[in-house]
Amino acid sequence: MGKLHYSDRSWGNIAKLANDTKAKATALFKYAEDNNIEVLIYETIRTKAQQEANVASGASQTMKSYHLVGQALDFVPTKGSATKWDEYGRADIKKFIAKAKALGFEWGGDWTSFVDKPHLQNNYNGYGTDTFGNTVSKPQSTPQKPSTGGSIVDYLNSKKIDSSMANRKKLAAKYGVLNYTGTAAQNTALLNKLKAGASTSKPVQSGYKGTSLVDYLKSIKKASDYSSRSKYATQYGIKDYKGSTSQNLQLLKKMRGF
Ligand SMILES: [Zn+2]
Repeated sequence: MGKLHYSDRSWGNIAKLANDTKAKATALFKYAEDNNIEVLIYETIRTKAQQEANVASGASQTMKSYHLVGQALDFVPTKGSATKWDEYGRADIKKFIAKAKALGFEWGGDWTSFVDKPHLQNNYNGYGTDTFGNTVSKPQSTPQKPSTGGSIVDYLNSKKIDSSMANRKKLAAKYGVLNYTGTAAQNTALLNKLKAGASTSKPVQSGYKGTSLVDYLKSIKKASDYSSRSKYATQYGIKDYKGSTSQNLQLLKKMRGF
C-alpha cells in the first residue's frame, strides 16, 4: 500500500467524520493510497463559527453545510507537497471522484448553481442523519491510522463518552481548554488532558451504602483487617484508633465521603 505525502493529515481529518461518512471516506482514501492517487483531504468537519466565516467570505453559500454534521469532506489534488487547485480534471483524480461516487458521495463538481470541486458529501438519509457514536465497525482492510495522539472522538467513543461537539465543549470547559471550537490543536490539548485525568485513577466507587466499615472496605476490595484499618485511620487523621464503633463510622465517612 502506497503512503501519500498527505496520508497522515488526511487520515487525521477523516477520523473526525460521522460514522457512515467516515467508513466511506476511509474506503475512498485507501483507494487513493493503493492507486497512488495524490490528494489531500484538507477539511472535513467544520464548526458553526468556521462555516459563518466561509459564508461571509463566499467560500460557501449555506449555513446548512454538510460539513457541520460530519457528512462532507473537501479534497485537493496534490503532487508531492504541492496543492494543485487546477488539476481536478487530472486522469487519476477523475478515477478518485468516480470511486467517491460509487461509494455514495455526491460531488460538488457536478453542481450547476454553485460548483464546488473540492467537495464530497455523504447524503446518507439526509442532512444530519449520520451519527457519531461507538457503533462504527471499521472495514477489515482499514489500515491503522498513523496517529500522533489519536482522535478525541475515537478516544471518547472508546470510553463510551458522548463525543458530540456539544459534549466536547463541556469537557473543554471543565478541563480548561478555552474558547473551544473544535480545532485540531484544541482537540489534541483536550485529549491529552482527558488521558492525564484518566490516569490519575479516581477512588473506586462502591455501591455499598451501609454503616459497616469492614463491609465498605470489602466492597472496594481493600484489606479490612484491624492493622489495615489502623493505617487508614492514620492516613485520614483519626487519632488513637482502637476500632471502636464510633471510630469506624468516622473512618467510613472520611473514606467514602459521606
Ligand atoms: Zn465542502
